[in-house]
Amino acid sequence: MTQPSWAVLDEANFHYSYRIDKVRAEYQMWRSAQPITDVLTDEDWTMLSTVLYTQLGEPKHRLSRFLDALECLDRLPKVKAMVESTWLLDMNQLAAIESAVAEAPVAITDDDFFWQALDDDLIDRFTPTRPRQLTPTNSTIRKTVKATILSVEEAAAPDPEAPTPEGGPVPCDNPGALLSSLPPIEDQTNILLVEDLDDGQVRFDLTVDQATGTLLADAVKKAADEQECSQANAMIGLLQGVITTTVTTNIYQASDIPDAPTYHPSRGILTKEAADTLAELVTKTLDMNQAKDAATTSYETTPAIRSYLIGRDWTCRWPGCNRKAVTADADHRINHDDGGPTTAANMIMLCRHHHNRKTDRQVFYLVDHHTGDVYWFLPDGTWVVDQATGPLAPTQKRWVQTLHQRRIHRRERLAAKAAAERFDAYRGIIEAEPEPPQPRPYLPWRKPPDTPPRYIQV
Ligand SMILES: [Zn+2]
Repeated sequence: MTQPSWAVLDEANFHYSYRIDKVRAEYQMWRSAQPITDVLTDEDWTMLSTVLYTQLGEPKHRLSRFLDALECLDRLPKVKAMVESTWLLDMNQLAAIESAVAEAPVAITDDDFFWQALDDDLIDRFTPTRPRQLTPTNSTIRKTVKATILSVEEAAAPDPEAPTPEGGPVPCDNPGALLSSLPPIEDQTNILLVEDLDDGQVRFDLTVDQATGTLLADAVKKAADEQECSQANAMIGLLQGVITTTVTTNIYQASDIPDAPTYHPSRGILTKEAADTLAELVTKTLDMNQAKDAATTSYETTPAIRSYLIGRDWTCRWPGCNRKAVTADADHRINHDDGGPTTAANMIMLCRHHHNRKTDRQVFYLVDHHTGDVYWFLPDGTWVVDQATGPLAPTQKRWVQTLHQRRIHRRERLAAKAAAERFDAYRGIIEAEPEPPQPRPYLPWRKPPDTPPRYIQV
């Protein structure tokens, strides 16, 4: 088998037909439960969920989770067609898409451009490029959605160099009173809450901006590793000055693409503000193209080789594992003692748990050094391909290219939209009377309004 395919959709799998039947039936069941009009009030929702509970036996939280997932899917025509023709994704995976979308600002989810971009990005993620490829995990699905949100969000941000619109802000009567009622500017991002708990303990709740948080989290983690203590105790030690540490924070950014996003191994794609702040602190730049082919004679990786491996793998590479590569071990495919070199071509990142399984020789793998693909050979005689998801992996590099083009397209589109709005305003269209809301004549479950009443014979 050499055609690109998903391992889960291989008809030769023993479980294939059971899985397809289950995924299709579950999808159709939830489709049958989908309301045919918007559920606008709590009363509507209570009625609908009660009826569905009596007929499906599904609790309210699952009803809202899966009905929301289908509503979200209905805004993604390409993904919907793919789901209904292949049954690659089950309801849980569709719910993972929806829960990530739910975190997007309303201004973005109201925008068709976002849904088109998300449809394209998800189709890209759900198109196999290797034979027997592993399905993306829910965590990768959520990362894909978040990346799309970020790409649209940043492109939608106002251009600081753009001229101020005519008219400007409306002056208020007493600016002094308004200003004194607002919290001080420096307190708006970094907030510390100290709370006395009933059992005599004290709870600290610290919220900081992403750049500061990234530096603090890296320092606390490094101190905890060095002191072999919990991160909480490491933070206390650092605050009290009992311990000190020196930490290197690695960030990744493509140098050959303008406006390329910046990635941190724990935070993921950074906001523009955090990326700019951390970029100013950079003291050393590592060339990842060199690190890709670098070698050392020692068992331990050099900082550059480890940085490359983390940037390529991003998570533990064991099938289905989501643990972050930054906390994982670099595994020699061919053991160092057996002559295996300490180079990226012979290594992948594995979390401690899966590193132990691998050294038990329960499974074997091969690495394609060019693409970062890992071929896993499983105990049942089958094999699967895991694609790398880090910023140095080819799929992510391609996405960054797409992102750059999307930002240009989005800015052009926003400028055209603003021009059209000015034209509309000029013509007085905005003064037209809004359409009155239409009354809804029936409750929103799947029963057409002209269905005759149903009689039960006794
Ligand atoms: Zn793992």
